[in-house]
Amino acid sequence: MTTTKKPDLKVWKDIPLGGVVESGTSEHFHTGGWRSKVPVWQKQNCIQCMTCWAFCPDNAIKVVDGAKGKERGEFDYDFCKGCGICPEECPQNNKIFKELKAKDANLKGSPSTFTGTPGFNEKAAILFVGLKEAKDKFNIK
Ligand code: SF4
Ligand code: SF4
Repeated sequence: MTTTKKPDLKVWKDIPLGGVVESGTSEHFHTGGWRSKVPVWQKQNCIQCMTCWAFCPDNAIKVVDGAKGKERGEFDYDFCKGCGICPEECPQNNKIFKELKAKDANLKGSPSTFTGTPGFNEKAAILFVGLKEAKDKFNIK
């Protein structure tokens, strides 16, 4: 019968204490450069429901102090990855989207793809535009 030798493995007690990873380091890594599309807030049409803030997976919508308490602020473009969730979930966007669809059932798309559709841009609270349009028209880099 052949016997094998037990390998000389280290257990956790043999391993020296390792380094400590500092918390909150993601703040130093701006991930907004991953975007291929850009949300644009149209404050004048916003009803301050905070739905976009609740849905944003990257915490990229700022909350600011307003006259009546906490309010939605601008996008934090250092971290917004342009996922399109906020223009899709915004109730104001959905309201305009449904109104336009009721008038023309042939319109295809969703609240996040309706930017540029006649009648949408004027009343939507969040437009969703390409990088070039964001830079040229809205000065967002
Ligand atoms: S596009 Fe996505 S990541 Fe950017 S603010 Fe909206 S929900 Fe957040
Ligand atoms: S942008 Fe839309 S979802 Fe966000 S607070 Fe304004 S109305 Fe609500």
